[in-house]
Amino acid sequence: MYASGAKCYPELRQYLDNLPVIETHEHYTNYQKADDALGFVIDNYYLSDFWSAGGEAAAGADGGSVNKDLPEKERFDLFLRYYKKSDKTAYARGMQEGLRICWGVDDISDYEQFKIFAKKFEARDESIYAEFMDKMNIKAKVVDIFDLADYVEGKAGYSKYCRFAFPLPSIHDLHRKDDLMRLKKYIGRAITCLDDYVEAFDAYFQKCVDFGIVCIKDQTAYRRTIAYGNPTKAEAEKAFNDIVFNPRDTFGDDRVRALDDWLFQYAMRKAAKYDLPVQIHTGHMAGIRNEIVKTNAAHLIPTLELHPDVRFDIFHGNWPYMDEFLFIGKNYPNAWLNLCWAQSIDPAYCVELMKRAVMTVPHSKLFAFGGDTGMIEWVAGYLTLARDNVACALSGLVESGWLNLGEAKQIAADWFFNNPNEFFRLGLEPI
Ligand SMILES: [Zn+2]
Repeated sequence: MYASGAKCYPELRQYLDNLPVIETHEHYTNYQKADDALGFVIDNYYLSDFWSAGGEAAAGADGGSVNKDLPEKERFDLFLRYYKKSDKTAYARGMQEGLRICWGVDDISDYEQFKIFAKKFEARDESIYAEFMDKMNIKAKVVDIFDLADYVEGKAGYSKYCRFAFPLPSIHDLHRKDDLMRLKKYIGRAITCLDDYVEAFDAYFQKCVDFGIVCIKDQTAYRRTIAYGNPTKAEAEKAFNDIVFNPRDTFGDDRVRALDDWLFQYAMRKAAKYDLPVQIHTGHMAGIRNEIVKTNAAHLIPTLELHPDVRFDIFHGNWPYMDEFLFIGKNYPNAWLNLCWAQSIDPAYCVELMKRAVMTVPHSKLFAFGGDTGMIEWVAGYLTLARDNVACALSGLVESGWLNLGEAKQIAADWFFNNPNEFFRLGLEPI
């Protein structure tokens, strides 16, 4: 537990356990199956720290995180070799909390406990999802499932908690003719020029609006800088025509940048037209060895200024660029600050950030939580960290005389529930 020494910490922390939560960012809609218990323990965000500690050497021939071909005890010892070097990080803590809350595991490094857990884990079924969504008091979640088509067309089911984000990256990540044709079924003919492509995008987007999307989501920061330019349509058309006319070629980022940027800005104009917020990945990326400078939210400022009518939801605390993040929240009425995932990347960073945010940014503009996971156990673990962090930050501000306890509780309710409820127009009863 990450606690502060403030007198009001215990009361505030307990209040947070009973406070309803809206998850602002998730990647799954319902119960997700898992069978290999040891793989399950590692294959969440903790895997990055396991690798960072040298654990890539534990991988099996099948690419699994720890060699499945080894006898059980040897495999467990191989896991321990790297776990013992990385079990104090926040990712590890979130994983440990999830196992404690959902499976009663105190110490996953103890082989006897692991064996008991692995046996119980064999009976894991869909009841665990409903049980812990309810126990963790989560009322709704905004989900980005990368491809919405099956949901829009009624081919995929989902839990009652889901509100959907429109996944934008594949719309403007265009490098080959095949990429341009993905949307052709929405106009029922071949796509031969940029106007055709835009017509198909418009048709698909309208279906998604009718389906009930609550926002647009873009995580293109994983592959390119978020310093979007503002090229002319003619420049975008030039790139489009090159791709569509050379069906066997793959075009690099330098050749397609104008098209990529133009389509992104076009989507922002659609967001304004439909009054849909836009979630943008900024800061740290999942996995290891990606490049961080390209993801700093400061690169997004020209886009924020170009679209004053679009409400931007800036993700992940822009970790590790706190100062730029606070500046953006303070300076732009169309920018909101989201600590989804960040709460389990770096608790101390988030505690400092939230304290400074109370003093610098309207408290209506911060969202405290989104698990950004694929399994209910990790949501439970990461939400516990987020509640600890918020209690630390706000109890510290009560102790120092900046807030009274009633104000601290109301800010927590806004950050976890009221702000996302209003921002995404979810229509739930405010707290
Ligand atoms: Zn995510």
